[in-house]
Amino acid sequence: MKPSPEFSLIQQYFHALTTRREDVIVGIGDDCAVLNNPQDTYTAVSIDTLVQDIHFFADVDPYRLGIKALAVNLSDLAAMGAQPAWFTLALTLPEINDDWLKQFSAGLAYIAKNHQIQLVGGDTTRGPLTITIQVHGHVAKHNILQRNAAESADLICVTGCLGDAAAGLQFRLGQLETGLLTDTDIEYLLQRLEMPTPRNQIGQQLIGKAHAAIDVSDGLLADLNHILNASDKGAKLDVSALPFSAALKKLPTEMATQLALTGGDDYELCFTATVDNVARLKHQFSDMIHVIGEITEDEGMYYQNAHGEWQAFSAIKAGYDHFA
Ligand SMILES: [Mg+2]
Repeated sequence: MKPSPEFSLIQQYFHALTTRREDVIVGIGDDCAVLNNPQDTYTAVSIDTLVQDIHFFADVDPYRLGIKALAVNLSDLAAMGAQPAWFTLALTLPEINDDWLKQFSAGLAYIAKNHQIQLVGGDTTRGPLTITIQVHGHVAKHNILQRNAAESADLICVTGCLGDAAAGLQFRLGQLETGLLTDTDIEYLLQRLEMPTPRNQIGQQLIGKAHAAIDVSDGLLADLNHILNASDKGAKLDVSALPFSAALKKLPTEMATQLALTGGDDYELCFTATVDNVARLKHQFSDMIHVIGEITEDEGMYYQNAHGEWQAFSAIKAGYDHFA
């Protein structure tokens, strides 16, 4: 009997992704995968879909797309402090393009190997290019990192730099003033857009140290707001402390600030923790952890204007509207 077309395609192109972990009892090839959860863990599950012309450009490098498709899912595991374990892949393709599939699967295999996550199921259909990945990770039963546990006087921290991906997107749309940027800067910004680096290592170290965490996928203000709403808290932000890359620093400060506050696709972590625990994390991850503000009992998000007055963020957003 012939194997199903999905099975053949997945086996042919994604084989490198399908064999490794000992906790996979039955992998790809049967009706279901059978997976063994380690003792004292729960399973964290998340799913993300990328659709051509909505989430990525039709001409994007398929190797980079393979990386991004898994990276955005890994980032959700990172935000929960979960250890990546398994993923499934649903691929809708307009045609069987051998070259595209080879490159896409190579990118996917590269990031999967880096995070020790195994492909345990797949489905392929014909249609407009769409990539859906569901990830599964392990979280310790005794301490689950969520959005709803921020406490007053917690410091608000972010990992890495913000706004790069949004600047890369503006470049792709022909909307970025590139006067001061070198080709290397532009390639860096595009890499941040097309190949984000999920912070799983830091995420797992936040367990027991951070009170609340989220990954920054829709822009810092929007994502921090999820923490504040879930925790019934507010925030005072120091916009001058927003971490910018060397490339972003070459843009006008107001523009870089706007990109960092509202641009999407950063896939950095935003978390809240006590002063002491932030010091521990900074010691562990040094220049990767940046304090950008403080959690307040009073709700709302505020920043200090040039006159030192605290102002609600609606104002700063309105002021920067011409960049939107
Ligand atoms: Mg998320």
